[in-house]
Order: sequence, then C-alpha cells, then structure tokens
Amino acid sequence: MTITNITLQHCTGCLRCIEICPLDVLREGPNGLPEIKYQEDCQCCYLCELQCPSDAIYVLPDRAYEPGNVYGKWGIKKG
Ligand code: SF4
Ligand code: SF4
Repeated sequence: MTITNITLQHCTGCLRCIEICPLDVLREGPNGLPEIKYQEDCQCCYLCELQCPSDAIYVLPDRAYEPGNVYGKWGIKKG
C-alpha cells in the first residue's frame, strides 16, 4: 500500500498539496492543516511531495515496487 506522511510540525498550512492532488486523497482538517483522508486512493504520483514548499510530505513508493505490477502515468495498474 502506498503511504503518504505529512509532518505537521513543518507544515505552513498553504494547502497547496490539497489543490494539486489529482485523486483527492487529502482534505483540510479541523485545524486548517491537511490530513490524509483517502489514503487507499493514493497512486504515488509524488505531486504533493514535489509541490510542498516546506518539504513536509513524504510519499513511500511501495505501490510502484510491487513485483509483477505495471503502472501507468498516475500509478494506475494496467491489465
Ligand atoms: S503543501 Fe506542504 S506546507 Fe502546504 S499545506 Fe501541504 S503539507 Fe502543508
Ligand atoms: S502522491 Fe499523488 S495521489 Fe498520492 S496524495 Fe500525493 S498528490 Fe495525491
């Protein structure tokens, strides 16, 4: 399973990660900071990690390394 961690101590609350995620994995939490709401939908595209100005997001590329699987542009399994 792909895992995305957000280190909230480093987060400035710009919410850029929520805007950039193509699969709506992230949502604004009650404290105004992002939270991982639909982790199972994350397809390991790295957009959130790359766009975060505070380097607060870490995407673990488990899904991409599952043996025998072939993934497309957004990490979606083919065939
Ligand atoms: S892009 Fe980074 S700094 Fe901005 S809200 Fe998301 S985790 Fe926080
Ligand atoms: S890696 Fe891609 S799909 Fe996963 S939370 Fe970040 S932007 Fe969304």
